[in-house]
Amino acid sequence: MTLAAYWAVLGWLFAPPAPARPKLVVVITVDQLRPDYFTRWKSQLTGGLGQLANEGAFFIDGYQDHAVTETAPGHATVLSGMWPAHNGILTNSQGVQDSTAPLLVATNGPGASPRRFRGTTLFDWLKAADPTARALSVSRKDRGAILPIGPSKEQVYWYQSGLFTTSRYYADSLPSWVQGFNARRLPFKAANTAWTLLLPDSAYKEADSASWENSGRDFVFPHRLPADSVRAAGAVAGVPAIDSLTLLFALDGFEALRLGRRGTDILAVSLSATDAVGHTYGPDSREVHDQVLRLDRYLAWFLKRLTDRVGRDNVVVVLTADHGVTSLPERTRARTGGAAYRVLLDTLVTAVNRDLDRLAGAGSPPREWLELDSGMLFLRDNGRFAATGIKTDSILDAVTARILRVQGVARVIKPADLSRADTASDPIARRWLHQLAPDAGVVLTITLQPGSVWDIPNVPIAMHGQPSEDDARVPIIFWGRGVRRGSYAGRMNTVDIAPTLSVLLGVTPLSLVDGHARTEALLPRK
Ligand SMILES: [Zn+2]
Repeated sequence: MTLAAYWAVLGWLFAPPAPARPKLVVVITVDQLRPDYFTRWKSQLTGGLGQLANEGAFFIDGYQDHAVTETAPGHATVLSGMWPAHNGILTNSQGVQDSTAPLLVATNGPGASPRRFRGTTLFDWLKAADPTARALSVSRKDRGAILPIGPSKEQVYWYQSGLFTTSRYYADSLPSWVQGFNARRLPFKAANTAWTLLLPDSAYKEADSASWENSGRDFVFPHRLPADSVRAAGAVAGVPAIDSLTLLFALDGFEALRLGRRGTDILAVSLSATDAVGHTYGPDSREVHDQVLRLDRYLAWFLKRLTDRVGRDNVVVVLTADHGVTSLPERTRARTGGAAYRVLLDTLVTAVNRDLDRLAGAGSPPREWLELDSGMLFLRDNGRFAATGIKTDSILDAVTARILRVQGVARVIKPADLSRADTASDPIARRWLHQLAPDAGVVLTITLQPGSVWDIPNVPIAMHGQPSEDDARVPIIFWGRGVRRGSYAGRMNTVDIAPTLSVLLGVTPLSLVDGHARTEALLPRK
């Protein structure tokens, strides 16, 4: 043995052990959480939200930096590190629905799977480095539970009609701990209970009597659940109690699976009450204020249970949101006189399709040549359209002119024109670039003016889904093991979360990622 080889062997023998990973990675996605809530109610956030914000690394310029700011695409960015353009999840309606994967219990709900998701997630990267790693992902919504974990057949559960369930993509039967939780029938026992204010009246600056809330019905506290237990179990999904139920269920799973007590495990929780309350009453309501305070208290209890069990030094927590929300247009008009509209283009698109039928010639059966989904106009039958001899560009120019005349519409952009946009100065174009895969079949993108929203006929709720500041801005907080506390400026996108966690965990992405690790918020690995 040469001297050099001798030293090499010696160095290997006495090399420090590979740095240990945290035992538990907790990823909390709050459905529809705006970052301004943290400043608006700062002094009242004395629980988990306050703890994470004050003790963690808070990225104050956090974004879901894609155009269709809905739940499914939002959840799909968080642990994949990829934009919708690359992970394949474009909208809620093209999210997780899958009739070939029916539910195991509560079979009145739609089947669901990650079949449309492309690529890998942080869990796959961790599993490649540590084959003992496991994941539990829980939400009120199928998409909130499924998409953070991606394709892996792990423990993935969501709420349907009073029960937690999963689909046949994941399992053929529910484990005993899930059956045991369902057997307690907690949501059914919520019948006739009331949602009251957590703090005294004087703690809330928002007026409680705003007639644009909840379509003008039941907009004053207290809000009572139905007396019928089955109806109550459904209605629970729309009040703060669903978050405490989801966290309770997650904790049962955490204990049953003994997560965080061997190698490294992932616990993903998506909490939907803020979305439900925000849609119904709007982000300026007393109801959202109270919901966020209650979420703050629930999270304090949840985080304490986790850290008591596996040790504070063994846990890293990420908190973010799938999207923000825009104020109710009725409120914006009444309070600021601003131009804010509910925009519906269905009639216009139908009329264009009938025009195209006529152009295609006699005998052509009515066809949906153009189809609108969340501000994206799809040409569904490209080959057949080309065969008609109709010039696509001239049709699209005419459609663009018609759409631009609709009140509330700001911009109509062809995907081909996006590549010429200055993505630094034009966030709308940048978010559409992050949204669209070249093969998506989108021929036009439609963006509304700030304050305007897509209309759902006869459902005058608060909405999100635009590439606007209100809808795209989200909080991003890292807390715990390996995290350098502080307030971090500069745009941090949700696609940066997984790459940053991969550095913290010392694992390598298995597919291309769009995000970048924000290592300035990490401590050197010991
Ligand atoms: Zn929503």
